[in-house]
Amino acid sequence: MHELSLAQNIMDIVEEQCRKNNVNKVTALWLELGVLSCVEQSALEFCFEMITKDTVAENCQIHFIPIPALAYCWQCQKQVEIQINHNACPHCNSTHLQHRMGNELRIREIEVKV
Ligand SMILES: [Zn+2]
Repeated sequence: MHELSLAQNIMDIVEEQCRKNNVNKVTALWLELGVLSCVEQSALEFCFEMITKDTVAENCQIHFIPIPALAYCWQCQKQVEIQINHNACPHCNSTHLQHRMGNELRIREIEVKV
């Protein structure tokens, strides 16, 4: 499952941060999730719950921050926001786009209990 390896990656980063900062309890996580990333939020939460059992992040809350899909349109020569499953510029309908954002999965913030 795709989400399981993503959850594992996030957990690796969280654990590394906790070791560095001497933290032994993570209470919440804020994740930036691009709308084009094809990540199933509920599946990711499920996997995360599974792998965080008996770790510093057990029972931690996960908050998703949606990141819009942005692309650079060569025709309009500016950055435009594109819709999911619609690979054309909303202004000129050109498909000559260069994707800039929308595929990411990133940790924005880690809330810990000191
Ligand atoms: Zn355009």
